[in-house]
Amino acid sequence: MSTHTQSPETSHVSAVLDELCATVEDYPAEGIVFKDLTPVFADGAAFKLMVDSIVTAFAGKFDAVAGIEARGFLLAAAAAYATGTGVITIRKAGKLPREVFAESYALEYGQATLELHKEDVPAGTRVLILDDVLATGGTIGAAVSLLERSGAIVTGVGVVLEIDGLPGRSNLAPHEVLSLQTV
Ligand code: AMP
Repeated sequence: MSTHTQSPETSHVSAVLDELCATVEDYPAEGIVFKDLTPVFADGAAFKLMVDSIVTAFAGKFDAVAGIEARGFLLAAAAAYATGTGVITIRKAGKLPREVFAESYALEYGQATLELHKEDVPAGTRVLILDDVLATGGTIGAAVSLLERSGAIVTGVGVVLEIDGLPGRSNLAPHEVLSLQTV
């Protein structure tokens, strides 16, 4: 995990990810090595291991789990259900029907916007943010800003994979970031 210590549990998570995660070169654009976690999500034992590993690391520290559209929703819904907490949906622009906070951020090519309903998160809620992959941190950084504008307290960030050599983790400082594997 993020500490890079190789406990038996950590090496088991890594072994499962090595076996199941698909790697697609030059997708969605040339030069990008896309880490496709859909086979991990499709495997019941592997999916449970990912979700349990993340929620165990943040046990007692959150009242709700925020997922970022779309793959983050899968992890967040499972984590919230497993811990009896609420799930918060952070969506791409134009999908939410009521008043929203919006945050735009840079992608490798161009810009994207994420939105959160203004009234979905009571002030003071302790929120764990989940997504599948941390690269530059722009996506999760936008989610942090949205939640903080709502008055929520971001108490942790969990991802399955962290791309090595990119400033995602430092861009999210001082928030605690757990990745199950660095690739
Ligand atoms: P970033 O905002 O740069 O941290 O990018 C993270 C978002 O883009 C996540 O929602 C990921 O799903 C997706 N993403 C970025 N890079 C990759 C990659 N190499 N493989 C898979 N997904 C990625």
